[in-house]
Amino acid sequence: MQLLKDRIRKDGKIKSGDVLKVDSFLNHQMDIKLFVEVGKEFKRRFADCEVNKILTIEASGIGIACIVAQYFDVPVVFAKKSKTKNIAGDVYTTQVESYTHGRTYDVLVSKEFIGSGDKVLLIDDFLANGKALEGLAAIVKDSGAELVGAGIVIEKGFQPGGDRLRAEGVKVESLAIVESMDETTGTICFRGDR
Ligand code: 5GP
Repeated sequence: MQLLKDRIRKDGKIKSGDVLKVDSFLNHQMDIKLFVEVGKEFKRRFADCEVNKILTIEASGIGIACIVAQYFDVPVVFAKKSKTKNIAGDVYTTQVESYTHGRTYDVLVSKEFIGSGDKVLLIDDFLANGKALEGLAAIVKDSGAELVGAGIVIEKGFQPGGDRLRAEGVKVESLAIVESMDETTGTICFRGDR
């Protein structure tokens, strides 16, 4: 998605540890006009798919998922990160190792909101090593729902998550795939460039 790539080049900041900071428009301050275009693009890419629920993970996936959901006309469920071990009640849980925080969270979704018969599209801001998406996919599997695919705003293609999930048969659609980024020069190359 050219608009997004241009914005990443303009406002993205490359940090150490292969972290791309896009908090001026994606995951701290949020550019809703851009989100609207993101929503339309996901709807276009998943036009052939039946979706009745969007699943994301707190916190940065929520804002994006809410705008995307307007184009699918479906509710959004977000997986909650729990720091405590005492998870009670009717919930699906899985563990997710956080890329940016370097810790493992228990992640949970109430059984009330996802179940067999649901057709679930996953939405998230970033795809790096794939732990967050794999956690969400595990919850979908546990629930008996169908995993339709995953819509990702920015994939870091030099990290293994996206290619591994595609190899496993998941339809992963990323709107910008960063092939390489150089902290010293500030250069970002996208898959499909050249
Ligand atoms: P994964 O689980 O695929 O390794 O990482 C995905 C999660 O980590 C995303 O939900 C996102 O919040 C965070 N993340 C991974 N890489 C980056 C990055 O380069 N920049 C930012 N801002 N977040 C990232």
